[in-house]
Amino acid sequence: MEEIFVIIFGLIIGSFLNVVIYRIPLNKSLIRPGSYCASCNTPVKPFDNIPVLSFIFLGGRCRKCKVKIPIIHPIIEIFTAFAFWLSFIWFFEYSIHYTVFTMLFLAILIALTFIDLFHMILPDELTLGGAIIFLIYSFFNQGISALDSFGTAFGGALFFAGLYFFYLKVRKVEGLGFGDVKMMLFLGAYLGMVKTVVAIMLASFSGLIVGIFFIIFYKKDLKYALPFGTFLGLGSFLSLFWGENIMLFIRSVVVG
Ligand SMILES: [Zn+2]
Repeated sequence: MEEIFVIIFGLIIGSFLNVVIYRIPLNKSLIRPGSYCASCNTPVKPFDNIPVLSFIFLGGRCRKCKVKIPIIHPIIEIFTAFAFWLSFIWFFEYSIHYTVFTMLFLAILIALTFIDLFHMILPDELTLGGAIIFLIYSFFNQGISALDSFGTAFGGALFFAGLYFFYLKVRKVEGLGFGDVKMMLFLGAYLGMVKTVVAIMLASFSGLIVGIFFIIFYKKDLKYALPFGTFLGLGSFLSLFWGENIMLFIRSVVVG
């Protein structure tokens, strides 16, 4: 029963994240106006604004102008619900506030992942805003110590800033954006050392695979920019739940 509530809550937050992902890069208010069709500007009626279900009933099209609603909308809603459900079954027994803050972390993470994918930017409201929230929360976080949180946030950001300036100086290109540096503050503050290291490894590995794929199949060169924040988002999601196991696995492979 509680799980049903968590899934519905996740769908609603996912629906709000669609608004965040669409409006923040356009510098539009998140509250006013209410949802409207991006094509014909018709306000969406509350009945047509139910996560996933409305999309199915409307056949994935605007009721007025019949333009296709991007399939990514219900996907983000379902994924958010899945992520919230995972947090609930994973952490609820352990700590209620840790579960709630994990959901908040995931909501910000999902927004950053998709905004970087669509726009190649990582807005300060989310990276720095998230960093402040989770640095403060580190004093109440039972998962990691405040020292781990602050150390990983600033250590990780410093490491990425180093990479950023190294690329700029040596290769005269922006290897990664400064938004990634700020995103590290946010990730490190909540994940702590072990999970952040795993997240960066997963992000680099998946980024490399996708990069090679683009070079081979789409004839892109090495300067072709990938949204690294998206890979960091994916890596962080996996690491949040399975980071310790992944680290144990890597150790067993390396040490034998
Ligand atoms: Zn429309």
